[in-house]
Amino acid sequence: MDATDIRRIFVIGAGQMGGGIAQVAAQHGYEVWLGDASIELAERGKAKIASILSKQVEKGKLASEERDACLERIHPVASNDGMSEAELVIEAATENQTVKIALFKDADARMQPDAILASNTSSISITRLAGQTNRPERVIGMHFMNPVPLMKLVEIVRGVQTSDTTTETVAQLAQKLGKTVITSKDQPGFVVNRMLVPFLNEACFALQEGLGTPEDIDQGAKLGLNHPMGPLELADLIGLDTLLFIAEVLHREFGDDKYRPATLLRNLVAAGWYGRKVGRGFYVYDDKGQKVGRAFER
Ligand code: NAD
Repeated sequence: MDATDIRRIFVIGAGQMGGGIAQVAAQHGYEVWLGDASIELAERGKAKIASILSKQVEKGKLASEERDACLERIHPVASNDGMSEAELVIEAATENQTVKIALFKDADARMQPDAILASNTSSISITRLAGQTNRPERVIGMHFMNPVPLMKLVEIVRGVQTSDTTTETVAQLAQKLGKTVITSKDQPGFVVNRMLVPFLNEACFALQEGLGTPEDIDQGAKLGLNHPMGPLELADLIGLDTLLFIAEVLHREFGDDKYRPATLLRNLVAAGWYGRKVGRGFYVYDDKGQKVGRAFER
């Protein structure tokens, strides 16, 4: 199979990443199934896409016909109905190995024999996920960046058994979606999160130790390092639950204490303050996702 054979894409998980992947795929003419654990969650994911596209129409950046055509190509589903018709399945469910292993086993049993199964995981071993299937040569990491419609990069992760054909097909597809590709070996955090997560975790330690206020830390990175967002703002955007999970994978898999997650990060996750997606993390956010202030004082 090459990228021209892919017409139908099934995205598992209608959260911020799955929704973004579905939007970009549909905008590039692909027929997309958007699956989540319930039909309400899947439809909520599609409604979010509709709202994003409608804002672009209001600003004159997108024709209303293009929005409508894109939305018609997105089919929210509760179960894995439609998966047997897709040439490519992209798993973008919660960053939890037990959840992903169950999803991989189920998807493998439903998919066409020659279809490709990709994961958007930030940190879980692709080789380990591939080992749960009967198609390890057609399992690959396809790591989109957040927010998917804006960020140019897709990091392609080759598991030990991933074939050259699968790698080439997925790279071509990412390019057809307007993305630029880098390739990583299958090691914890791959290329991007190996660099990013220790940086964000260090910002959590800095805040925990009272080195500066959240604003000091974020301004330090923005004005001092020329980063477009501060590390605490970015952590809130990524999701503190996802960030903690990746930090734990780096810590456990490398067995090196330099990767240990900050207690403050653990506490915010324990409190359910996952960041922007729930309206509170290091900062508080309004209904439109705009930052309105600090979430806590000490
Ligand atoms: P999210 O919490 O916004 O969405 C996860 C979605 O998965 C939710 O809608 C949840 O209901 C759904 N889900 C959970 N269990 C499921 C199941 N059994 N079947 C179907 N759907 C299920 O999380 P997210 O930020 O979109 O992250 C998704 C994946 O993308 C993770 O693997 C994460 O590591 C990766 N990722 C995240 C970012 C980021 O910045 N957030 C960036 C790159 C990659």
